Amino acid sequence: MSINLNAHAFAGNPIRPKTPKTQDPLSPSSAFESLKTHLLQSPEIHPPPTSPLFKVLPFRKGRPLASSSDLPGGDVGVPSWHLGWLSLADCKGILGKSGVELSEEALVYLGSKAEDDVVYWAIDVSEENGLVPELSSRQFCFVELRTLMVATDWSDSLAMGELAIAGHARALLEWHKVSRFCGHCGEKTVPKEAGKRKQCSNELCKSRIYPRVDPVVIMLVIDRDNDRALLSRQSRFVPRMWSCLAGFLEPGESLEEAVRRETYEETGIEVGEVVYHSSQPWPVGPSSMPCQLMVGFFAYAKSLEINVDKEELEDAKWHSREDVRKALTIAEYKKAQRTAAAKVDQMCKGVEQKQSLSADFNVESGELATMFIPGPFAIAHHLISTWAYQDPSTGVNGLSKQPSSSISSL
Ligand SMILES: [Zn+2]
Repeated sequence: MSINLNAHAFAGNPIRPKTPKTQDPLSPSSAFESLKTHLLQSPEIHPPPTSPLFKVLPFRKGRPLASSSDLPGGDVGVPSWHLGWLSLADCKGILGKSGVELSEEALVYLGSKAEDDVVYWAIDVSEENGLVPELSSRQFCFVELRTLMVATDWSDSLAMGELAIAGHARALLEWHKVSRFCGHCGEKTVPKEAGKRKQCSNELCKSRIYPRVDPVVIMLVIDRDNDRALLSRQSRFVPRMWSCLAGFLEPGESLEEAVRRETYEETGIEVGEVVYHSSQPWPVGPSSMPCQLMVGFFAYAKSLEINVDKEELEDAKWHSREDVRKALTIAEYKKAQRTAAAKVDQMCKGVEQKQSLSADFNVESGELATMFIPGPFAIAHHLISTWAYQDPSTGVNGLSKQPSSSISSL
C-alpha cells in the first residue's frame, strides 16, 4: 500500500455542507429550525418521519469523544478508534442527568450526508463534569486530537474521514471560544446560521464574524546542484526529529514572499524558484489559532551557506537524498500508529487514564534512528518523501520504485 499524497490528515471531510440553500432540509438554517422543534418536544413524541436524524459529537477541552473497537475491516488484532456520536435524545438525556438543559444555541452545525439523511452537530461540554462517568460507563472517552491523529491508519479512508470531521469540529468549537466578544465594540457575540458564523449582539454594530483560518507556509528548501535538502530542528521538537522550515504569513505578503522571507530569516539562505506542492488544514496548533492552513512548497536555494537564527531554530543542515531516504525508511510509522491505537483502546476501556503528548511522538522515532522525519499525518512528511523519491535528473516522482522497506510497507 502506498500513501495517497492527496489525502492529507484533516483534509477530505466527508460531511462538509454541500448545500447552503435554506429550503434544503439538511441546510444549516433548516436543520437548526428542526433541531429547535426536537428539543422542545418531550422524549415520548417521535419526530415526524420527514425530519432528518441528528447526531451530536461532544468535545471536552478540545478533545472529541471517542470509542475504540476491533471492527471488521481493520487489521486483525489492531483496534481502531471511532468518533463518539450520540443521538440528540441521548445527548439531551446525559446532560439532563447533570442538571444541564440542552439548548440549540450550544450546538454547532457540522454538515450532513445526503445519502443517510443525517445532520451532524458538535457541542462543547468542557464545563459539564457530571457526564464523564456516564460516558465512561459506555466505554467512551475524551481523547486528545493529536493522539487520535497519530492513532489513525492513513491507508483507511473511513478513519481518515473521521479524523477530518473531528478536526473541522474542533476548529469550529475553539473558534467559538475565542470569539465570544465583538472586536469592534466589545459586546457579546451570538451564533448565527447554526453556529457557522457569529454576529455582534449590539444592535448598532451587528458585526459579522466568520471562523478564522491562519495560513502558514511550510517549505522544503532544496539545493538542486548538490542534490540535497535542508532540514531543521526546533528546540520544542522531540529528540532526533528533523523537519521542514515553516512560518506564518505577514499581512500584505504573498505566499511566495513568505517562503523566501522565512527561509532567509531563519537560515540566511536565499530562495529563488518557489513551487507549490499541496496544503493541509491543521486544527491541532495553539488554541489561540483554531485552525492553521499549512501551505506546502518546494523552495529552490540560490545561496547555500547556512546561518541559523538560534532564537527561531536549534539547528539546520543540508542532508543528502540518501540520508533523507534512510531517515524515512528507519522510522517505524506503522508501529507508532498501532501503539497509539492500542493506547486509545485502553483509554476508552478505562485501563489508561494518562494522556501524554510527548509519548505519542516518541514512539514514532524508530529505535536506532539518528534522525527521523515527522509521520505521514504531517504535510512535512509528504514534502520530504516526495523529494526523496523523485528522480533527481527528471524531477518525476518515483514513488512506485521505492524500496519495499520504506513507505510502501508502512
Ligand atoms: Zn460589535
